[in-house]
Amino acid sequence: MTTLHTLGFPRIGAHRELKLAQEAYWAGTLQRSELEHVGRELRARHWAAQADAGITLLPVGDFAWYDQILEWSCLLGAVPPRFDQDHTAPVDIDTLFRMARGRAPSGKPAAACEMTKWFDTNYHYIVPELHPAQDYRIASESLFQQVAEAQALGHAAKPVIPGPLTWLWLGKGDAYDGPGDATKLALLERLVPVYRQVLARLAEQGVQWVQIDEPILVLDLPDAWQRTFLRVYDQLAASPVKLLLATYFGGLGDNLFTALELPVTGLHLDLHRAPEQLPAVLARLKPEQVLSAGVIDGRNIWRTDLDQAEALLAQAQAQLGTRLWLAPSCSLLHVPVDLAQEHGLDNELKSWLSFAHQKLGELRLLSQALREPEAVVSELAAQRAVIAARTASTRIHNPAVQAQMAALAAVSRARQAPFAERIRAQQAALQLPAFPTTTIGSFPQTRGIRGLRRDLKRGSITQAEYDAAIRAEIEQCIRYQEEIGIDVLVHGEAERNDMVEYFGELLEGFAFTANGWVQSYGSRCVKPPIIFGDVSRPEPMTVAWSAYAQSLTDKPVKGMLTGPVTILQWSFVRDDQPRQRTCEQLALALRQEVLDLENAGIQVIQIDEPALREGLPLRRVDWPAYLDWAVDCFRLSTGAVKNTTQTHTHMCYAEFNDIIEAIASMDADVITIETSRSNMELLRAFEDFHYPNDLGPGVYDIHSPNIPDVAWMVTLMEKAAANLPPQRLWVNPDCGLKTRGWEETRPALENMVQAAQQLRQRY
Ligand code: GLN
Ligand code: ZN
Repeated sequence: MTTLHTLGFPRIGAHRELKLAQEAYWAGTLQRSELEHVGRELRARHWAAQADAGITLLPVGDFAWYDQILEWSCLLGAVPPRFDQDHTAPVDIDTLFRMARGRAPSGKPAAACEMTKWFDTNYHYIVPELHPAQDYRIASESLFQQVAEAQALGHAAKPVIPGPLTWLWLGKGDAYDGPGDATKLALLERLVPVYRQVLARLAEQGVQWVQIDEPILVLDLPDAWQRTFLRVYDQLAASPVKLLLATYFGGLGDNLFTALELPVTGLHLDLHRAPEQLPAVLARLKPEQVLSAGVIDGRNIWRTDLDQAEALLAQAQAQLGTRLWLAPSCSLLHVPVDLAQEHGLDNELKSWLSFAHQKLGELRLLSQALREPEAVVSELAAQRAVIAARTASTRIHNPAVQAQMAALAAVSRARQAPFAERIRAQQAALQLPAFPTTTIGSFPQTRGIRGLRRDLKRGSITQAEYDAAIRAEIEQCIRYQEEIGIDVLVHGEAERNDMVEYFGELLEGFAFTANGWVQSYGSRCVKPPIIFGDVSRPEPMTVAWSAYAQSLTDKPVKGMLTGPVTILQWSFVRDDQPRQRTCEQLALALRQEVLDLENAGIQVIQIDEPALREGLPLRRVDWPAYLDWAVDCFRLSTGAVKNTTQTHTHMCYAEFNDIIEAIASMDADVITIETSRSNMELLRAFEDFHYPNDLGPGVYDIHSPNIPDVAWMVTLMEKAAANLPPQRLWVNPDCGLKTRGWEETRPALENMVQAAQQLRQRY
């Protein structure tokens, strides 16, 4: 029998049971014992589903109350001092929750730990806090308890733990300068012994294999880290369990030799993203070593071309026999749980898709295809037919889009005149004061507004009633902005459920699931749209709302669009063409929308690209190619407008240093960015670069309910004006206001306008 395993299974439950239980527990309506019961039920259910599908080694430790890295930090006792952890007591679940979110049903509130994106995914982990004197110990029993739980259910448990180097790389601390700071490695002296204790305890429990995740092996690693891998794994190899070293999200590249030299019994490779590494690995794998081939895509939702997977693995199968294991490329955490829950998708589309449960079936089928194809002839034929049908489907291929794409090279991306000339024309047309004020787009999404959408869906109000109610919201928003003296108004985005979903629903080539939730962080889940075919825009998407808003006022109202890269980044994207192509199709659709807005008399148009930076590939060598097409797509969507039309873009969640040149080449007339949380630190990239176009450094943090005061915002702007030309600066919040209430928004914006007035007198 081929060993089949998964690197992890989604923990949230097919109906987000974990989320509901967590939130009820935090709210005080669920007892701790009830919460623990939900956790046990979910684990048991997920193990059973995997075992039923023929998975032979079941992951344990992929379950987490909030995040798997946080679980591990707690197991190691790496609890920051502000949480008052007793150094001899176990770390309590409420301490874990306080680390994640600042408070819990018991224990003193304290500042939550930082959260950040997990590699290039949309999952967020809780950043370990490191300091040079940190001590480690086994401070939580939950992993061992879960192993016992799985065993009691009759399963072969394979604990999954973060490797020591990855855990350190992900950690931060005042004493350390960035992920790759080599002085972090000194902590290994105290860390490795605890790893050895953990492995010894697992061995005592009868565990044979432990999966140790070192995804940093797909990154550019400094020499010191590469070398340290050897030393650390020599120490771990003495443990009485077999180690399966797991790498994913890319190829090993220049870390390949390091990985192959490590004294581990098994190695997992992401052969979906990096199939090209297989021959080099096969040539060097040691005779006793297992290779776990991650061929089923753990990051996307398409059915696997099993013929292709089989062809890729034929040589490995011949060479390794039972030493070849099969797995998804990475943990299934990143895909929705079960396609069987989708009743709204048509059967054709559904036949193309594979969520976590379905991927288990694909894994089993692949193993049979490799070893006893005669037993699964008809199943393989059925899968082949689905793949062929998808390739040939007319729903995927739109000849009009193809014609546009064929002519893409001839489409001009550049604006008619350079910025210096455009901005003069725009000034003449718009007549804005110095330090113009604006907002990022959304105004509070009140309960009332969300209720309207729910009522429309249920049919308890008509489309006409809904539209009228949204128009009333827009009018109120415009009147309010006029009243407090904002210079460039927005319509407030009341009609949008979400900045990507709204556009996806109006574009061809998109599909939406009812239940396709994926964990983003803690109890928060997202339901990414699925881009399955050529993207086109059957009709204008925002023009009526924007034109209505503009009809209410003499001040300019910004048209508001989500950029092509951000739509791409926050969706499940078709895998039958390069992402670049899909992004270009999105850009063409947005280009038409931009021109329609211009024709409707909209003089200022913003195209948000908050996800541009997170799309950066994991390896630096791949950055230029990505940035080239990402910037090209932005320019494609904005380049056609007249000189007098002012384009804006907006970015948050970003460090701009590495990408400032690319940002400048986007050539938006105005960019608004997040800077206030870093006290304008993030602005330095723009200053050093002598960023030429207009810039709005966010002056207040919309993530916080605190009301910023006037003097503080003036000080922040003065900081900006010290290094950038004051006549290029705008005054605006950090991001959209949709998550805030009106009671916080009103005083904050009024103070912001006052700050701008004071600045106008000073400069
Ligand atoms: N225009 C969007 C809003 O204001 C931008 C949101 C974002 O950058 N994430 O809500
Ligand atoms: Zn933002």
